[in-house]
Amino acid sequence: MKNYLMYINGQWVGQELNKVEVTNPATSEVIATVPKGGAVAAVQAVDAAQEAFKEWSQFSAYERSELIRKWHDLINENKEEIAKIMTMEQGKPLKEALGEMNYANGFFAWYAEEAKRIYGEIIPATQRNKRLFVQKQAVGVVAAITPWNFPAAMITRKVGPALAAGCTVVIKPANLTPLTAIKMVELADEAGIPKGVVNLVTGDSKAIGQAWLEDDRVRKLTFTGSTEVGKELLKGAADTVKKISMELGGHAPVIIMDDADLDKAVEGVMNSKFRNAGQTCICSNRIYVHESIHDKFIEKLVPKVNALKIGNGLEEGVEVGPLIDQAAVEKVKKHIDDAVKTGAKIEAGGQVREGLYIEPTVLSNVHDEMLCMIDETFGPLAPVSVFTSEDEVIRRANNSIFGLAAYVFTENISRGIRITEALEYGIIGLNDGLPSTPQAPFGGFKQSGIGREGGHYGIEDYLEIKYVSLGM
Ligand code: ADP
Repeated sequence: MKNYLMYINGQWVGQELNKVEVTNPATSEVIATVPKGGAVAAVQAVDAAQEAFKEWSQFSAYERSELIRKWHDLINENKEEIAKIMTMEQGKPLKEALGEMNYANGFFAWYAEEAKRIYGEIIPATQRNKRLFVQKQAVGVVAAITPWNFPAAMITRKVGPALAAGCTVVIKPANLTPLTAIKMVELADEAGIPKGVVNLVTGDSKAIGQAWLEDDRVRKLTFTGSTEVGKELLKGAADTVKKISMELGGHAPVIIMDDADLDKAVEGVMNSKFRNAGQTCICSNRIYVHESIHDKFIEKLVPKVNALKIGNGLEEGVEVGPLIDQAAVEKVKKHIDDAVKTGAKIEAGGQVREGLYIEPTVLSNVHDEMLCMIDETFGPLAPVSVFTSEDEVIRRANNSIFGLAAYVFTENISRGIRITEALEYGIIGLNDGLPSTPQAPFGGFKQSGIGREGGHYGIEDYLEIKYVSLGM
């Protein structure tokens, strides 16, 4: 077992602090510890980031790009090792962990390039003797608070654009999965990213979060996690009027029309539902199937779900790992029990297994009043409900406080576009169960969040616009 440390101002620190244990959800073994940092460490990290900002923001875009690229290359060389650590602390199958490393590193590759495309503008003036310039500048120190479900990608999706823009960062990874983050930050050091540009603090989430909220030098807060914590942080950020990016909860509907290619729809549901054991914010949560194809859909889906291999993600061939902790297991169980008690039928799975494992589950005869149709399940539960008309299914799909991702399966292009336009969601998978990619904007409508990450949109939130009016 290793005792890892925090990274502040280019130093590994926190040896003297109490420890937070990191557990392998597949075995319940404690595999490492990290320091239980608090407000003091949080402020020290901001001191370092603020100092480093002076120089880093003056680096040319090409210099920043090269360093991000070096960091990317080192992660690429070490991705098997980091993926294994990720599986051990998070539970996802090794193949998925490796997939996440590639996806995560894709943000560094993209933003290393995007650093070079932070263009300004010259606006035609009214008078002959004026020139109007628009410049973009880094916002300053960025605080990034990240969740446990994507321990690598949720960091690179924030840190990539922040560094590219010329910002410096203070990171607080989830306490359940800090090791992947620490491993990546070790490589930032090796890549030659100057001290203080990237800092990482572990420990008391509330104390660290509060210290950053109160600190006027932190000019931007970027958060991915639960809607509940996001709302608290939003309120807390008001006093110092920070820029905000929020990636919060989702409750993705899947709409399968009567003209869908059923094999494509089943594949889309398998991908969007059972990846990461259902623990992603864009996982399908509610599956609406047209009444005329419902039975055929269930017939095709169930054998595939029953065939999924459950187990420790380090074992060959495992497709569904454990859930992250006991509370996660209980939530999924509660959703299954509530649905079954109020009329749902178990078509596959349904049982909790020893440890933190839940069988991938399919329920039919599901109604909109059931808990699983309202609350984010964050587990391997696929509730299937029938609908009869397009209007009805759009209304039901939009009837949510969330608006992150939605999926539509139809072979009719006009209908697909019509439904896509009617859905109040930030990301639509149209005949696609895996829409996430570094070059596209990711984010939600409604209570699913504020702002977009990824693509050329993702760097805007790290830039201030400065307008210069020149009198000649
Ligand atoms: P999840 O558990 O789904 O990842 P959370 O919103 O609970 O979602 O946690 C996301 C991140 O926010 C984690 O890094 C967690 O430690 C952190 N966090 C939780 N509560 C607070 C808080 N009050 N202030 C700041 N950060 C918090």
